[in-house]
Amino acid sequence: MGELLYFAETTLLYIIAIFLVAGILLRVLFFIVNIFRSRPSTRHSILQRFVTLFGMVVPFHRAVLKKPVYTTIRYGFHAGLIVVPIWFSGHVYLWEESRFEWYWTPLPDEWADRLTLFVLFACVFFIGRHLVSKKSRLDTRISDVVLILITGLPFLTGYLLTHGNLDGIPFFNTYLWYFHVISAEIMLAMVVFLFCRTRLSEATCVGCAACVENCPTETLDFYDQEAFRFFRYSHYQCICCGSCVNVCPENAAALRHAISMKHFLRMFSKEVIRDVELATCEQCGVTIAPQSQMSKLEDILSASDVEMTMLNYCDRCKKMIARNSDLLHTGGGRWETAKR
Ligand code: SF4
Ligand code: SF4
Repeated sequence: MGELLYFAETTLLYIIAIFLVAGILLRVLFFIVNIFRSRPSTRHSILQRFVTLFGMVVPFHRAVLKKPVYTTIRYGFHAGLIVVPIWFSGHVYLWEESRFEWYWTPLPDEWADRLTLFVLFACVFFIGRHLVSKKSRLDTRISDVVLILITGLPFLTGYLLTHGNLDGIPFFNTYLWYFHVISAEIMLAMVVFLFCRTRLSEATCVGCAACVENCPTETLDFYDQEAFRFFRYSHYQCICCGSCVNVCPENAAALRHAISMKHFLRMFSKEVIRDVELATCEQCGVTIAPQSQMSKLEDILSASDVEMTMLNYCDRCKKMIARNSDLLHTGGGRWETAKR
């Protein structure tokens, strides 16, 4: 046990650090290759894609005005995640003591404390939002909450360790340090497989494809096959611009974090992230539009007492009937003049 713990706080820490740097470099490489591979769209040139991506890193975009509290907490949280592990004096001291003897000016301890508490507050806020907000709850997976817990644990154990809050309990007095090191290692290893991905809600997405029309990099697209519409997506081409989220009339598109080794390895292909059933023409059987979109339309029209005789007909059948009311559909897309 003692040897394992010693391994965790020495060799494993170096392995994780190398793994983290190599993983991040590989992901940057995959991203650049994919951005250049994808066709430059009429909406966004290659250069604009990089500019948009950079724009998401600095807090000067529309989301700040739309959700100021949430966005401020999100940016503060991410700033804390980067600043505390690198500039906390205890960590700088460990680097100075290590074989590398690296030193940089640390953050004053009271600032590191405030940032740590902010990260912990943000974790509670995000979990609460997942559980309390109706919209978030519909689309929350257990992994969303686990991800926040894994992120918060090294900050919690680090804070308790620095302030000696649990020193009076022998178990924690001995093992809290190891909890801190191992939880930090798990979090750092997770970063390599952590993606910010577009999600189309199973519960509320009606399949209208407005998000696809407005995706500047065309990473989001769809194809219709038989009676289904399949939405495809590649995270290495996504610049997290949020256009799909802003344009969705049903509030069904969201950018969410996800951990997955499978996603890390999916470098050059898109994956199906959502499928919706298509409604078919009552006359000739061709697909016309997503079923849930048609049902919504039907609800709206029936509430306003509008005639719906041809709602479930395709454009061609509507035109045929409008041109000649004597025509009758005889199956297989064939029409004949009705006998009088
Ligand atoms: S815009 Fe919204 S409702 Fe339409 S397909 Fe995209 S996620 Fe679904
Ligand atoms: S965030 Fe949405 S709109 Fe923007 S690139 Fe990604 S999938 Fe496309």
